[in-house]
Amino acid sequence: MVESHQTAVKTKCPACGGSVPAGKYRCLKCGIYFCSKCRIRLAKRDRQCQCVNQQCDDYGKLICYNCTVKVAEEKLIPVKIGDSLEIALLTPLYISPIVGLVAGKMSEFGIGVLATLASYPVLAVLIFTGCLMARKKSYTVVRNCCADCRQPVQQK
Ligand SMILES: [Zn+2]
Ligand SMILES: [Zn+2]
Ligand SMILES: [Zn+2]
Repeated sequence: MVESHQTAVKTKCPACGGSVPAGKYRCLKCGIYFCSKCRIRLAKRDRQCQCVNQQCDDYGKLICYNCTVKVAEEKLIPVKIGDSLEIALLTPLYISPIVGLVAGKMSEFGIGVLATLASYPVLAVLIFTGCLMARKKSYTVVRNCCADCRQPVQQK
C-alpha cells in the first residue's frame, strides 16, 4: 500500500482527528463540517459549495471555495430576428431608388426602374444577414465549477 499515509490523513476529521470515511464532509463525532476534497474545516461564515450534478461522484458533497475550478463559458447574445427584419425591409426602400436613379442616369429609365426593383430583395437579404452577424456577439462568464464534472456548483 503506497497510499497508506495519504489515506490516513484524508480519512481524519480536521477537528477531533476521529476517523471519517473518504469523501464524507461531516464528522459524526464532533459534528463539524469540512470540505470533502481538502478536508479544511468549514464554518457557517465560510463560502461553501456543492455539486448539483446528479451524475457526478461529488453530487451533494460539501466542498470549499478553493476546491472549485473556474470555468469560462462563452455566451451568445440572443439575436432579435424581428428587429433585424424590420431594418432589412425598411432600409432598402431608401437605397433602392438611389440605385435605380444612378442606373437610370447611366442607361435609360426602364433599366433604372428594373434596377430599383431588383436591388430591393438583394439589399434586404444583405442587410438582414449583416444585422444577424453584427448581433451575434458573445460574452464570457466565469463560474465556479466542480473539479470533477466541471458543472457550476451551488454556493451557500
Ligand atoms: Zn470530529
Ligand atoms: Zn477544499
Ligand atoms: Zn460534480
